[in-house]
Amino acid sequence: MSETRWTQATGKDVVARFCPSPTGTPHVGMARTALFSWAFARHHGGRFVFRIEDTDASRDTQESYELLVEVMRWLGLDWDEGVEVGGPNGPYRQSERMDIYADVAQRLIDAGWAYKAYDTAEELEERRQKARAEGRPSGYDGLHRDLTPEQQAAFEAEGRQPVIRFKMPERDWTFDDLVRGEITFGAENVQDFVIVRANGQPLYTLTNPTDDALMGVTHVLRGEDILSSTPRQMAMYEAFAEIGIGSGFTPRFGHLPYVMGAGNKKLSKRDPESNLLAYREQGFLPEGLLNYLALLGWSIAEDRDIFTLEEMVEAFEIERVNPNPARFDLKKCEAINGDHVRMLPPEDFATRLLEYLPEGVDTALVSRAAPLVQERSNLLSEAAQMLAFLFAGDDFAVDPDDAAKMLNEPGLEVARAAREALGGLTEWTTEAIEGALRRALVEEMGLKPRLAFGPVRVAVTGRRISPPLFESMELLGREQSLARLDAVL
Ligand code: GLU
Repeated sequence: MSETRWTQATGKDVVARFCPSPTGTPHVGMARTALFSWAFARHHGGRFVFRIEDTDASRDTQESYELLVEVMRWLGLDWDEGVEVGGPNGPYRQSERMDIYADVAQRLIDAGWAYKAYDTAEELEERRQKARAEGRPSGYDGLHRDLTPEQQAAFEAEGRQPVIRFKMPERDWTFDDLVRGEITFGAENVQDFVIVRANGQPLYTLTNPTDDALMGVTHVLRGEDILSSTPRQMAMYEAFAEIGIGSGFTPRFGHLPYVMGAGNKKLSKRDPESNLLAYREQGFLPEGLLNYLALLGWSIAEDRDIFTLEEMVEAFEIERVNPNPARFDLKKCEAINGDHVRMLPPEDFATRLLEYLPEGVDTALVSRAAPLVQERSNLLSEAAQMLAFLFAGDDFAVDPDDAAKMLNEPGLEVARAAREALGGLTEWTTEAIEGALRRALVEEMGLKPRLAFGPVRVAVTGRRISPPLFESMELLGREQSLARLDAVL
């Protein structure tokens, strides 16, 4: 009986991978898996492979593939080998490796590790029900394991198309999960499984371990939902070792905790907070989002939530990932992003803000205005929204709700006094504007600052919430500021 020969790879010999299927929109759970695998590879100074598992033509799409590549690039999770960049073990899209899987399946059959099974769906179902009724395991019962060539020919003469099944050695499977510690699957729970469909389509059960073996993967980190594949893959590595596919070693496995959404339900691809592209649209920074994703199962220290990607790479230890489900908390995600927004060098912040502002804006003005909102926003879109008044031009409009609250009769009286005080200013600076307004509104009219400046703020910036008023007016300029006051009067 063969034994599992676990890889001993460490340091630069470590190879980790991320291998999503391109269906739908890239989601948060995927990015967390990619991040942990990437951080693991980088921490060890090893290699990171990005492969695409697109063997299901009915579900995979080119659009989804392109989004995955784009999202990985946006996040900055670079790969040493894989789609778009190539490498020694390509191609890296499984749809381009079909001849490899056909060859591996045939070699498994030739070596007695796999066989053709001709059972019809009805036959399987009938036997499954019987097994259940008798309290036996309901997986495949191995009926076609040892068909003679004559029996096979007879089935084929009936027009039956066989699937290919892998022959599971009958024994228990124990492995030391990098996250969860020792796990055992009893022999009765892992029966012979299908690796190639009757129509010739190779399944994940075959393509994933084949590629991990051929691409030299030493550490498989993936979601907990795939845990039950691991005993099958262990068996397959024993077959590979025997027939000379890959290095002869079995990778180490680590299964990352589920990500839970609202109501303590598993976050699903379809939940709106799953959609990774939406985070980008809302103005999350990749470094903020990655910091938050890291917290879904890992922490750098008990008392510390905020860290950079470099710090994560330095400190990342897979053994310290918490196996318990992690809860996704959008509010916390935004707050963490806010910390990263504030950590950006001002010029960098201004540059990133450009993507969220109308095209063709005056970049020098953006650079001057950015410091007014950097401290106050968690998201780039929020910052852009606060600065919109500067770039609105002829489209400028006062928010109707805010106008109703602040530009009523007494509010308009304040605006009138402000217009008068500002009209006489010879110099248009923050200090001069502030001095003139304080004198006219606070000292002469005796108003509290909030009542004094609120109406001016709404008239000039269009909203009750804006960057600091006097600075905003300086940036907007004399002409436009006065014109906006005139317009409400
Ligand atoms: N293509 C598989 C998935 O997206 C990969 C699973 C694995 O990492 O083994 O779920």
